[in-house]
Amino acid sequence: MTANSSQPTRTLSNGTAIPVLGLGVWQVDDGQECERAVAWALETGYRLIDTAQAYGNEASVGKAIRESGVPREEIFLTTKFYPGGKDARVEAEKSLQRLGTDYLDLYLIHWPQGGPTWAWPGMEAAVEAGLTKGIGVSNFSAAEIAELGKVARIQPVVNQVLFSPFDYRRALLEASEAANIVLQAYSPLGTGRHLGDPAVARVAESVGRTPAQVLIRWAIQKGLSVIPKSTHQNRIKENFDVFGFELDDAAVAALDALDTTNQTAEALSRSGKWWS
Ligand code: NDP
Repeated sequence: MTANSSQPTRTLSNGTAIPVLGLGVWQVDDGQECERAVAWALETGYRLIDTAQAYGNEASVGKAIRESGVPREEIFLTTKFYPGGKDARVEAEKSLQRLGTDYLDLYLIHWPQGGPTWAWPGMEAAVEAGLTKGIGVSNFSAAEIAELGKVARIQPVVNQVLFSPFDYRRALLEASEAANIVLQAYSPLGTGRHLGDPAVARVAESVGRTPAQVLIRWAIQKGLSVIPKSTHQNRIKENFDVFGFELDDAAVAALDALDTTNQTAEALSRSGKWWS
């Protein structure tokens, strides 16, 4: 597929190219707020949009994409199966109706509620029905990926997890890469919390960039695809302006040192498992 050639991509194991940077729209209201954020992102050059059935804003994402003038095939569109539902294929059809498009680029199981394997046949059926090019998971640990890998006929191409210098899940990153799964960083700015951290500010000052740019760049240099969220046009632009500089080894090491997960292979802390 042709993702926007002006920005770096990673090639997934199904052969499609995923942009290394995209816009996330969790907690963005359906309607004007979401439509404007997606429109500004596409105008800026973003070609990856990350939504979910649980976000309640697929209709606005779809509307903004259609009205943007950017050809659908240049956009990498992700949505996620809400695992409180029963059948991932049926729910994919409903997502496509809300999005007003006829395929997804990526369809993820939002979290492993009920275990890592039960929903996968429905995900595979979505691929076979042409509803999505790729399927993957979110909030899966290395052990859950391994369990899924044993029964999958179609392998997951992405695992989307909480990842930032403060959540440096190094063992999970290594296990994902070993399984040919691209790790995608959600909440790369800690849902805003990490932007005021003094250590991040010091690195940002030393490279002449903003804290948001430094956090996004760190994830890209670790080999992840990363999906910061903003509803402000200036921030959407700022967050995209990360391809003209590189963090040197000292800056990367200073950020690596902020990890609070002990470089875990888990996707979430036990208290973070909101479905159990
Ligand atoms: P982020 O870590 O991307 O941080 C977003 C927050 O930072 C918002 O409050 C935003 O404010 C602010 N912000 C963004 N850019 C800047 C900037 N340049 N300067 C100052 N403030 C800024 O948050 P999310 O938790 O939303 O994660 C990103 C995406 O990841 C989600 O939108 C979603 O798509 C995905 N996600 C997936 C999950 C999953 O379970 N799979 C769970 C959580 C997130 P404002 O919008 O007001 O500009």
